[in-house]
Amino acid sequence: MADCLFCKIIEKKIPAKIAYEDAKVLAFHDIGPQAPVHVLIIPKEHIPAVDALTENHKELVGHMHLVAQKLAKELKISKTGYRLVINNGQDAGQAVAHLHLHLLGGRKMQWPPG
Ligand code: AMP
Ligand code: ZN
Repeated sequence: MADCLFCKIIEKKIPAKIAYEDAKVLAFHDIGPQAPVHVLIIPKEHIPAVDALTENHKELVGHMHLVAQKLAKELKISKTGYRLVINNGQDAGQAVAHLHLHLLGGRKMQWPPG
């Protein structure tokens, strides 16, 4: 998608601090971290949001979670705990219309979120 910020990061047209990459997904550190560890895991396919997922994406969505688990171990937050978040749409505050899984950790977090 020409006008998508995260597609541009995938294409390396915009720089990012990459934490993991394979044929299906890219993970990079959030530019405005909300926790000591804040990584975004995104599919290389342009999927606008959870709302746009189909049966065909089942394996991809599972893979994104396993990448999050692997990064949590590598970034040493798996023992203390971490939160995975996907914002979908306006009320959830989704700012970038390319599916992204937030991996947050390294500090105690509040529940419920605001
Ligand atoms: P969301 O509000 O769920 O759509 O999250 C979008 C996230 O993308 C926010 O946490 C932003 O800080 C992050 N973000 C926006 N632009 C960039 C960028 N160029 N590199 C890394 N993260 C970004
Ligand atoms: Zn995109």
